[in-house]
This record gives sequence, C-alpha cells and structure tokens, in this order.
Amino acid sequence: MNLEKICSVIVSVYNEEDSLEPFYRHCIQSCEKLQELGYGYEIVFVNDGSQDKSAILLEDFAERDKEHVRVLSFSRNFGHEAAMTAGLDHAKGDFLVFMDADLQHPPELISEMLKKFKEGYQVVSMVRTKNPSAGLVKNVTSALFYWILNHVSPVHFEENASDFFGISKKVQEVLKKHYREKVRYLRGFVQSVGFPKTSIRYEAAARQAGQSHYSLSKLWRFSKNTLFTFSNLPLQLGIFAAICSGGLGTLLLIYTLLTRKGAPSGYATIVVVLCFMFAVLFFVIGIIGEYIAILFEELKDRPLYILSDSKNIEEDSEA
Ligand code: UDP
Ligand code: MG
Repeated sequence: MNLEKICSVIVSVYNEEDSLEPFYRHCIQSCEKLQELGYGYEIVFVNDGSQDKSAILLEDFAERDKEHVRVLSFSRNFGHEAAMTAGLDHAKGDFLVFMDADLQHPPELISEMLKKFKEGYQVVSMVRTKNPSAGLVKNVTSALFYWILNHVSPVHFEENASDFFGISKKVQEVLKKHYREKVRYLRGFVQSVGFPKTSIRYEAAARQAGQSHYSLSKLWRFSKNTLFTFSNLPLQLGIFAAICSGGLGTLLLIYTLLTRKGAPSGYATIVVVLCFMFAVLFFVIGIIGEYIAILFEELKDRPLYILSDSKNIEEDSEA
C-alpha cells in the first residue's frame, strides 16, 4: 500500500451470498474516496461459518484484490460478536470501522467517520434515526432495553447506537488487551472505554437481501446477558425483596397484636401469598443462576472463535 495511513473496514458475514457482491462494489467505491483524506484501506471480511456461497464469493474478492481484501474464516458459526472480535484482533489500520454486510450500514459514511477521527475523536458511534427492517416489537423492545440498561448500569449507552462504529488504533489496543470477556457486547465496550467520542446520525437502509439473523429469542438472550454483564444491580434484588416481605410481615404482626384480630383466614389467601413469595424467591434464584452461567462461561475460557482459514493476512497478525 502506498498511503501510510490505513482505514480498516471490518465486515461480519454470515450467509450473505445475495448481499456480498453489491456490498463489495459499494464499499470499494467509498473506500477509494478515502485517498482524498490521505488514507488507504483494507477490508477485513470475517466469514462466520456461512453455509451458503459466501465463502466462495469472499475467496474470489481476496483473489481479485490481494492488496485490499483480507478474509478470516471461522471453523463454524460463532456469532456476530465473535466475528467482530476477530476483525478487531487482525485489523492493521489506524482507524477501524465495523459494519454489517447487508448494506444496512451505508459505506459512503465511512469518510464522514474518518473525518471525525481526524478531528481527534477516538470513538465514532453511528446512531440510527430510522431502521426500516425493524418492526414495532423490535423498536419497542429496543427502546425498553436501552432505558433499563441506562438505569441499572453506571455506563451511559447511546440509544440506537448500532454495530456500525469507528475506533482508533489506541481504542483497538485497549479492547484487544483488556476486554477478552466471553459474554460480549463490543458496542457497549466501545462506549465504556472513555476517550473523546462523538456520534453521527444516519438512516439505516432496508436489508439488501435475506433476513435478519437476530430472532426475538436471540435478541432476548443477548439483551439479558448484556444487562447482567454491565450491572450488578439485579443481584441486589434479593435484598430488596427480603426488605419488602420482612416489612410486610412486621406490619401484619403489629396489626395483629394491636387489634388482636387474626389475618383473614382461608385456603385461598395462604395459597396466593405462598405463590407470590415463591415466585419472588425463584426469580431471585434465577437471577443468581444467570450470573453463575456467565461466570461459568468465563471460567471455561474457551476460545472466542476458531479460525479455519485466512486469506491475505500477514503471519504475525494470526490469532
Ligand atoms: N452475522 C454474523 N454472525 C451471525 C449473525 C450475523 O456474522 O451469527 C452478521 C451478518 O452477516 C450481518 C451482521 O452480522 O453482516 C448483522 O446481522 P443481521 O443483519 O442479521 O442483524 P440485524 O441488522 O438484523 O440486527
Ligand atoms: Mg442487518
């Protein structure tokens, strides 16, 4: 590469055979324009165990443009977070842009992000103003998720920040070295590292082809894990529940002693109170279970991803 400074574009790919060709064309066009800003580029595709023709297409891109295209292939599907992490580990650029392969993240905005980086910002978050692919349920649950997360976590999360963001090499190094958690939320890590940050608002396009890989159940699992890894507050719910039930018991005791009247007797009352108490108890046990599951994942220390193949990647950057 002739230009000294490089912008790395990291693209996660899972079964995107219909989007890849248009994405690649569009991305190259936008990246060529980075020369005007004094930057060369590399595109790091991470093939997350695709079962369709994505692997063949990526191999063809790597063959066609050995200078700019790099491909990392996983031995199986490890998930979007792992794919982004592999890109993070192998990108060589001074500025790194993470984006999806389905053209929901407009490549023409890469130059705007780079301009912000050149102004001195180390983190550039891309905030969606509109997401045509998300239905009412996804929009409402997403707003609720951010509301809860921002109320229980000490870190402030930008609402509607997407997996489209840019970071400097300095932030990359921090994330590579210190954020090796197995239960991951890279977008959240990026927002929690500090450093000068800014955001750009953009309108997400509709998916180029195919369907979202994030089903509601996957989103639920992801949101739950994020909440638990960014906050210890749910663990204190047990104490809160104990204070509430203890307080209620004490009030009932005082009332009984003062009026010398027993609480309303009857089977239904006892069953309702018991069910309620057990529900609270099991809920608290469930939350502890969730934390133990996360601890167990971390303790096992299994690899975040396993590479089966790579193209145009320098030896020394192999993980
Ligand atoms: N993706 C991935 N591994 C997965 C699921 C998705 O690498 O297990 C990629 C996918 O190819 C896309 C990006 O992650 O480039 C975002 O996925 P998707 O578009 O399905 O999510 P949405 O935009 O609907 O949130
Ligand atoms: Mg998408």
